[in-house]
Amino acid sequence: MSNSSHSASSPVLVWFRQDLRLADNPALNAAVHSGAPVVCLYVLDDATPGRWMPGGASRWWLHHSLKSLDQSLQAIGGRLVLRRGDALKVVTGLAQELQARAVYWNRCYEPYARARDTKIKAQIRDAGYEAETFNGSLMREPWEVTTKDGGPYRVYTPYFRALSAQIDDIALLPAPQKLNDGSAGLHSDGLTTWDLLPTAPDWASGFTPVWTPGETGAHKRLGAFAAKCASQYDAKRNLPGIAGTSRLSPHLHFGEVSPRQVWSHVVSNVAPGSGRETFLKEIGWREFSYSLLYHFDDLPESNYQSKFNDFPWDFDENAFKRWTRGQTGYPIVDAGMRQLWQTGWMHNRVRMIVASFLTKHLLMDWRRGEEWFWDTLVDADLASNSASWQWVAGSGADAAPYFRIFNPVTQGEKFDASGDYVRHWVPEIAALPDKHLHAPWAAPSDVRAKAGIVLGRDYPHPVVDHGKARERALAAYASLKDAA
Ligand code: FAD
Repeated sequence: MSNSSHSASSPVLVWFRQDLRLADNPALNAAVHSGAPVVCLYVLDDATPGRWMPGGASRWWLHHSLKSLDQSLQAIGGRLVLRRGDALKVVTGLAQELQARAVYWNRCYEPYARARDTKIKAQIRDAGYEAETFNGSLMREPWEVTTKDGGPYRVYTPYFRALSAQIDDIALLPAPQKLNDGSAGLHSDGLTTWDLLPTAPDWASGFTPVWTPGETGAHKRLGAFAAKCASQYDAKRNLPGIAGTSRLSPHLHFGEVSPRQVWSHVVSNVAPGSGRETFLKEIGWREFSYSLLYHFDDLPESNYQSKFNDFPWDFDENAFKRWTRGQTGYPIVDAGMRQLWQTGWMHNRVRMIVASFLTKHLLMDWRRGEEWFWDTLVDADLASNSASWQWVAGSGADAAPYFRIFNPVTQGEKFDASGDYVRHWVPEIAALPDKHLHAPWAAPSDVRAKAGIVLGRDYPHPVVDHGKARERALAAYASLKDAA
């Protein structure tokens, strides 16, 4: 369908969202291949996400990623037009203003984004313009990987089997070398006017040395991981003290690299083996989370297993604060929460430990933790975050059973045996010998004195006793089972 007032110079509008890259970008590729001038747009949508507006750490990333995308577009003759407001109004308004030949975008899967985008597509088409959407974020669409009767998978292993069976040769789309820019004269907001970066205080100063947002940074990270770590991934991915995982999660979330690029690069450059296979399964967990969010759209808000609706959650403001600040007195938990605060990221093994600690030791509703992660993670992702929190809490799909309660001491001893991780993030107890590092309160007092540690002064007493907390959590779970 095309609008009669189109001319040969009518541009195609490409609306960038969670696909902040040039290469393997189907919407951009289609626009460039249309032969029309191209206008590249990003909208800071203040209206649609509601309580899931990007958190502080995500906003930091977004700022740098948009800057990087604009530079990449300028290098090929284009630029990124920035607009703020209700995306429905901005996108349909701009399509009209430009008399655009078409509007293209890559799909998002958050429930609010789907509802908004459906409306936008309808309005654009009703106005006589073409609107086309593409898959730029997933290996396969959530509706493409289904059970025999067409329903969604609820268990990961068969899901992954079905997904893998659909992936053979991956043909990646090249980055355009030249862009026929159609944005001359269009107003663009200044990125700095969006105030995405923190100022007073600048709590993100620890992010800069760790991350390079943008497509180039993403590919550097992917290349280094494939060359140095991927073959050992299976053996090392659970050790938070070493760089054994890819750290691609924020790059994937913002679409600076596509999962197809990651999959293809790893398959082409890493020898077959358990490292490679286990890593690809993790990419599969990301896809599974998106499938869950697509098919169960209240996943971020409601228990996937409704029997958890009666769970007797507790809330203690002081204990919650201690958890967020890394002051629980359990070193592996505190190390994780401080890594999160200082770098915007936490190792997956430790995410599981701190989430288990919040929901089981402190008996707090998983949604409290989900919200905290949403604000503090640079990779905050509605699908992966809600699916993972529900997985740990026991209320999710194919979840860890609630009664499996991580012991933070033995988890620390097992996965941070050398103590490198805890010593880095909890330096005040670094002088404790390995044997006592994960349970400072249990160390003989002369050992603590020699390490210069007075509990309650230099490092907190444990916020709860592990044994008692475990009993309390099990009793809460039993009450649920009895009630069911
Ligand atoms: P790698 O181990 O190198 O894995 C490669 C990629 O696979 C990751 O970048 C990620 O995209 C994907 N992936 C790996 N594990 C998972 C998983 N369990 N679920 C979904 N995708 C996975 N991940 C997010 O991207 N955003 C979140 O908001 C998020 N919240 C989480 C909350 C909790 C409580 C837990 C336990 C996990 C959460 N995860 C989340 C999943 C996982 O911890 C991170 O994806 C991973 O730690 C990112 O590090 P990496 O890139 O080095 O991962």
